[in-house]
Amino acid sequence: MRASQYLIATLKETPADAEIISHQLMLRAGMIRRLAGGLYTWLPLGLRVLRKVERIVREEMDRSGAQEVLMPAIQPAELWQESGRWNEYGDELLRVKDRHERDFCYGPTHEEVITDIVRNELRSYRDLPANFYQIQTKFRDERRPRFGVMRSREFLMKDAYSFHVGPESLNETYQVMVETYSAIFRRLGLDFRAVEADSGAIGGSKSQEFHVLASSGEDAIAFSSESDYAANTELAEALPPKGERPAATETMQEVATPDQNTIDQVAGFLNTTPDRVLKTLLVHAPKKDENSSDQPLVALVLRGDHTLNDLKAEKLANVAEPLTMASDEDIRKTLGVDTGSIGPVGLKVPMVVDHAAAHLADFVCGANRTGYHLTGANWDRDVALGETADLREVEEGDPSPDGRGILEIRRGIEVGHVFKLGRKYSEAMNATVLDENGKAVAMEMGCYGIGVSRLVAAAIEQNHDDSGIIWPEAIAPFQVAIVTLNGHKSETVREAGEALYEQLTQSGYDVLLDDRKERPGVKFADLELIGIPHRVVISDRGIEAGTYEYKGRADEDKQDIPADDIPGFLA
Ligand code: ATP
Ligand code: MG
Ligand code: MG
Ligand code: MG
Repeated sequence: MRASQYLIATLKETPADAEIISHQLMLRAGMIRRLAGGLYTWLPLGLRVLRKVERIVREEMDRSGAQEVLMPAIQPAELWQESGRWNEYGDELLRVKDRHERDFCYGPTHEEVITDIVRNELRSYRDLPANFYQIQTKFRDERRPRFGVMRSREFLMKDAYSFHVGPESLNETYQVMVETYSAIFRRLGLDFRAVEADSGAIGGSKSQEFHVLASSGEDAIAFSSESDYAANTELAEALPPKGERPAATETMQEVATPDQNTIDQVAGFLNTTPDRVLKTLLVHAPKKDENSSDQPLVALVLRGDHTLNDLKAEKLANVAEPLTMASDEDIRKTLGVDTGSIGPVGLKVPMVVDHAAAHLADFVCGANRTGYHLTGANWDRDVALGETADLREVEEGDPSPDGRGILEIRRGIEVGHVFKLGRKYSEAMNATVLDENGKAVAMEMGCYGIGVSRLVAAAIEQNHDDSGIIWPEAIAPFQVAIVTLNGHKSETVREAGEALYEQLTQSGYDVLLDDRKERPGVKFADLELIGIPHRVVISDRGIEAGTYEYKGRADEDKQDIPADDIPGFLA
């Protein structure tokens, strides 16, 4: 690719609305542009990275024996009614009507569609196991889209669904997926951990998440210093098994005026005593800003001497007021998470995080509002609860639950999730095959998700410096940049650049020939920002000396390499 004919849309300034480094750098490097809240266009440079991630995911999924399909983004309501999720899923599900007033949704996940396919196409135990995957655009109307493509509303997911007769077969495929995911994240050059995402109380893991370690991660994960124990902090220790969660009540509204019974339930869910969770209150905050379409909810788990009536009568306004603040940080500051109290009403506020609210509502409602989507019961946002010393059940330095070593707690970005669904969908949707005895049996199912677009951001969180992105070789938009100094004036330089470009391209490298009429400093800054791993500079002076100047993106120093040796040097 010639840079003069390629969209290099780099920005000097850090966009004000980008909070975390990957979001800043993706904008600055000209990889993405925001269209509306949680909706991003992938510009040519960003798309190259996305496609490379996609390719690695596809190669490893194919290697695992999974079969690629492509399902529609828009799904008919009937299927979701059949599974029961049309009502269960909540506001993340974008519902649309067609011209005939028929209901559809934009798929946040595809259990229903694939189950429908499989119940029609597979008849016999001989057809199983089968694992189908796709790499496809999802839409989730996230309450609070943020961090660019890290938590967007439209995003690219690899989702896979496996079908089995009996749990042993499911276990086998589940294990293959765990290994496949590890292979994928290794190839992407990421520092990641697989963690338990469910209580495991019933024995064996039903759900594991893959986290890329990064301080910006929204989840907190705990590892043992001396064993393989690793879990999403809160869940494992704080939550009772799914079967013991209370039955669903209707709406969020009911949560806004909690009674003692509710508090008891919350306490039950947090595995703590009612007097540790004296009051629970969900406040529906006003629209946070023009740019975000979501309505942030803030959950307050209140401790103190105040009665519920206090809260309802006079304090509510005071409590709610800071919610109009612009940023999380502001909300935290204003509500005094750090100090543990909010001024105006003097209430202890150990926890204030919007995502947690949804799940706190879930605690109370007993059904996960964000639904039994790909992950089944998705409790991970409860991690926010872990940020409060008072409610946290697992802390840094605690003994590991398996009795070996102590726990270290780190932040993680959830990039993958493998889940044993069991027969939830197959039973609801009557997806059966005939077993060896000719008897119809509901299939066991597993589902396996990877956030393909989120991975691009996660990789940047782990690979950058002050000058910009430092791409792992496997997903760099271009592996080599050739900079021709004064190429528009010097024929010799131009020709040498073209020759090396041809040579490296022929050898299979993705090469960007920076033939722009820009000052060298501008080119170098752009290439560092974009994060191309290898840079070769061709100048008249170098040609005279028979050398080109080489610098690796992460190198301190440049070095002169004999011009003819460049291909060998790169190999
Ligand atoms: P999160 O906890 O971050 O909301 P999730 O648990 O709801 O994610 P899953 O249903 O497990 O997500 O979906 C599979 C994968 O899709 C996730 O592991 C994540 O990498 C990715 N993903 C989920 N939501 C988003 C989003 N809004 N933007 C980008 N990627 C996402
Ligand atoms: Mg989610
Ligand atoms: Mg998940
Ligand atoms: Mg999650």
